[in-house]
Amino acid sequence: MLGTLIGRLVALRPPWNKYQMHSMWAPNLRRAFAPVLDYALPARCPGCGEIVAEDDVFCVDCWSSLPFIAAPVCARCGIDLPDLAEDGAECGSCLAEPPPFGRVRAATRFEGVSRTLVHRLKYARRTGHARIMARHLVRLLPDEACDALLVPVPLHRWRIWSRGFNQSALIARALAGRTGLGIELDAVHRVKRTPPLYALGRAARQRAVRGAFAISKSGADKVRGRHVIIIDDVWTTGATATACVRVLLDAGASRVDVLCWARAMPGGAD
Ligand SMILES: [Zn+2]
Ligand SMILES: [Zn+2]
Repeated sequence: MLGTLIGRLVALRPPWNKYQMHSMWAPNLRRAFAPVLDYALPARCPGCGEIVAEDDVFCVDCWSSLPFIAAPVCARCGIDLPDLAEDGAECGSCLAEPPPFGRVRAATRFEGVSRTLVHRLKYARRTGHARIMARHLVRLLPDEACDALLVPVPLHRWRIWSRGFNQSALIARALAGRTGLGIELDAVHRVKRTPPLYALGRAARQRAVRGAFAISKSGADKVRGRHVIIIDDVWTTGATATACVRVLLDAGASRVDVLCWARAMPGGAD
């Protein structure tokens, strides 16, 4: 009975602020009621829901099937390169038309368990999954990122109201907490809603994101002359994050990189 009641408390997770609804509640409640919750709410694998030894840990099967991205990848956009490609090599697209970002890196391919995590975070409100994603982004930070500023890709305010949180902001906060890097949640605003971009051609995507983002007043002060790292959950077409990169460079950022939990690869499973 007590376990059920506490379980409901954790599941309810009322809104705290627009970026962080759950992460203050669930871990604190779990710690406070650990002996009861270990019985009533055992830790579960974020990939498949199997009971595991501790929070935020995958079962052996899910861990071994996580589609981590391995070298060689394009030094700029992070896309797969042929096995024999040298360190620092760039793909044909980046050579033909150099992108505005310094580099894009993602921890995993957007498929399988990686995709499940993204969907559970966004649609099943498993906001603790942002901590897991952030943990895997630490090793992808550029060596020279010690004074970089983390900026999440913003959601349109209507999307924040309907979802209750911005998943990219949760990941950015968790990464800032792990690394001590600075974070500016409101640097970039999404001033125009955009349709789903994956079904559009390249020119239509660029039209759709044109004017969709704007630098905020506080953002303009904070990013000038800074190395900025944009944080996002998924890189699909890249149009959204690249539009944010341009806004930040226009505002005077000295360099802008992008870090994502997952990225779609051409010919990927999804
Ligand atoms: Zn699992
Ligand atoms: Zn490339």
